[in-house]
Amino acid sequence: MKYNSNFNDIAENYLFAEVADRASAYSAAHPDKKVLKLGIGDVTLPLVPEVIKALHAAVDEMSRKSDFKGYGPYEGYDFLRESIRGYYRSRGVNIALNEIFVSDGAKSDLGNILDIFSRDNVVLVPDPVYPVYVDTNVMAGRKIIYADASEKNGFLPEPDYSVKADIIYICSPNNPTGAAYTREGLKAWVDYANSMNAVILYDAAYECFIEDENLVRSVFEIDGARTCAIEFCSFSKTAGFTGTRCGYTVIPQELAKDGFSANKMWLRRQSTKFNGVPYIVQRGAAAVFTADGMREIKENISYYKKNAKLIADAMDELGVWYTGGKNSPYIWLKCPGGMNSWQFFDYLLENAQVVGTPGSGFGRNGDGFFRLTAFGSEEVTREAVGRIKLLLKK
Ligand code: PLP
Repeated sequence: MKYNSNFNDIAENYLFAEVADRASAYSAAHPDKKVLKLGIGDVTLPLVPEVIKALHAAVDEMSRKSDFKGYGPYEGYDFLRESIRGYYRSRGVNIALNEIFVSDGAKSDLGNILDIFSRDNVVLVPDPVYPVYVDTNVMAGRKIIYADASEKNGFLPEPDYSVKADIIYICSPNNPTGAAYTREGLKAWVDYANSMNAVILYDAAYECFIEDENLVRSVFEIDGARTCAIEFCSFSKTAGFTGTRCGYTVIPQELAKDGFSANKMWLRRQSTKFNGVPYIVQRGAAAVFTADGMREIKENISYYKKNAKLIADAMDELGVWYTGGKNSPYIWLKCPGGMNSWQFFDYLLENAQVVGTPGSGFGRNGDGFFRLTAFGSEEVTREAVGRIKLLLKK
């Protein structure tokens, strides 16, 4: 027996552990100080009433012999897939029912989708980036190249035709940078992918934070995407399902090559390795798309967006360069005074008792930048913003 030696090549995942260690060491040394956390990417508001109602009703169904459900369809129940289809249709995007696959979240699907692609594909990942894209490919032994995101391109890299890539990751609105592609920006990637015979793995986990009309919520709003893109979506940030677990992936029928159909291969993969999302959870997820459910989740998203605006307004006032904050729950700021990410982390912790996430943890190009999130409570966000303003105004 041999272990997968590719695991030797995965960077030690120390970022959040190191953040937690430094924050608790500070608290232990200064028990009188209140430390405020704007670092985590998890939601804090509870599930909305419409979802809770549906979950309860589904639990009761499971208690009745006549309504009990055992194994469900691998690709998800039709009632939920119809609702997802309706959600896309309401934004002018037509997808077929058999193009929608319900899952236990975007992270699983983003990792598992690699099962359908050959190991010798070249993978193009933006830097900085959500670390899952890199680590899942390193585990499989794939070659990774990077698209540089920077202050110069607003952390939205454009395709470079001198570079040949087969699998391209795009996350918009982006984690960690909060930057989101315009229609033209994304069209450039779709054209590039089609010309390279490549696939775009489009992570739309934060689409519900988009408010600007010229920004894209689904890659399938772009002409040509049906021949080159797979979209990953999640109820985690849309509806607070981080602990409840549900997401969906859209694979168009047109995504096919050399006699292989990505859609058919994914169904085959899922039916082999996955036995579906619990019925109860799918009922809860479907409630998100009812009129009341939509209204309620929008109220929660507005709450987080107000927090984001508080932070973004403070950065404007302080003259600190940043991306995100408007169409995203993340604010990605340039560390003031030429500090690197960890220097700024310590400076903020020691002088304002505020914890954020060092940008260097998301890739080489993240150094010198810092991520703050809007997922905390309004009270904590207000207090943290007040302290940051006081500190950086000096
Ligand atoms: N994609 C991005 C960019 C994320 O930031 C996250 C979670 O933080 C996920 C996917 C994971 O989503 P899920 O909870 O549906 O697995």
